[in-house]
Amino acid sequence: MKILVVNAGSSSLKYQLIDMDGEKELAKGLVERIGIEGSRLKHSAGDKKTEIAQEIPDHEAAAQLMLKILQDPEFGVIKSTDEIGAVGHRVLHGGSAFTASVIVNDAAKQAIRDCFPLGPLHNPANLMGIEACEKVMKGTPQVAVFDTAFHQTMPPKAYMYGVPKMYEEKLHVRRYGFHGTSHRYVSRRVCEFLGISPEGKKIIICHLGNGSSLSAVKDGKCQDTSMGLTPLEGLLMGTRCGSCDPAVVQFIANNPLKDDGTPLGHPISVDEVLTIMNKKSGLLGISGKSSDCRDIDSLADAGDPDAELAREMLVYGIKKYIGAYAAAMGGVDIIVFTAGIGENNADLRKQVIDGLEFMGAKIDAEKNKTRSEAVISADDSRVTVCVIPTNEEIMIARDTLDLVTTGKVRDN
Ligand code: ADP
Repeated sequence: MKILVVNAGSSSLKYQLIDMDGEKELAKGLVERIGIEGSRLKHSAGDKKTEIAQEIPDHEAAAQLMLKILQDPEFGVIKSTDEIGAVGHRVLHGGSAFTASVIVNDAAKQAIRDCFPLGPLHNPANLMGIEACEKVMKGTPQVAVFDTAFHQTMPPKAYMYGVPKMYEEKLHVRRYGFHGTSHRYVSRRVCEFLGISPEGKKIIICHLGNGSSLSAVKDGKCQDTSMGLTPLEGLLMGTRCGSCDPAVVQFIANNPLKDDGTPLGHPISVDEVLTIMNKKSGLLGISGKSSDCRDIDSLADAGDPDAELAREMLVYGIKKYIGAYAAAMGGVDIIVFTAGIGENNADLRKQVIDGLEFMGAKIDAEKNKTRSEAVISADDSRVTVCVIPTNEEIMIARDTLDLVTTGKVRDN
């Protein structure tokens, strides 16, 4: 069966068509600037690449264009949309309602809508993507795969915040965690790769990209994760500050600065402070130059003290979470690096693992020179350290296939 994987944002729609017979990627693409001047589609199928610039007013038009190019005589890979067995959608927030992926029906759509306050930027866009595909592929099953679902096995002691309990009971204020599809894929794949069962294993997954999160996975189930009610909590990220004293919000709101560092002269709202914390902080905010870890590395290597500080803060934060999760699980057997930074930045991996010999983790500098699936720990390291490239699309496609063929997902 061919499965179409869709990730809809507020002005974009990313897609990938996968032949589940052999799990081969047939084509992928991105519709950008939906509803904005300059909208276009970028598409590739194997070596063939094309770009179409045209007006794309809404998500339905984007979905139509995606289907058109997938059936194009030159750049397409299917003859008819009937060949698409089902569509799997990435949905950011499933709240507490979803512990696994689901086939989309009216009740599921309502539950996604109910999560709009928890994921105000993403969930409405994700639902627009679902509804657009429903319209242009009538009768094709649609499946929703949630970024939060894998973390729903966390115990209350890990997901509760210490604010009055009624905020969780009435308003669902709690830790949810994100990147769940990646954490789930990587935690499964590392065991397959090492030829072991997840049972009895304590694994720490470091998903390090523009957005970064760690998870503690015991017996294949998530015990804790670093992102919270929103993706702002946890590690220092590309443009997000990660965890800090919540009173910082009030302090900055009352004493805001202009970009040049001089006082703004009047208070700003909590929403405005959160914009600073989400968009102007992290590697970008500390270095003052870039949110991209590659730039931070080059600047730090050239002696830029702010970039050096940003890199040190990132490494220090990851180390602290690894220590915390090892303590929380009563040990650690496997540490995995994944996503843009985790897969590609060998120096950062070394800096994170160096100094963790006391807990049995030791890196092998030669083995660490990898960008693909590999064990990178020394032979005498008690903790196995690995690189496992993430593949959220394949996880979404597998869940979609499982739900439409057997009614339930394997190995949730
Ligand atoms: P997102 O969270 O947006 O999916 P990615 O997983 O692509 O982000 O991660 C982006 C980060 O990964 C950037 O900080 C970038 O510096 C780093 N990165 C991506 N590719 C490479 C590479 N080839 N070498 C070094 N760093 C990389």
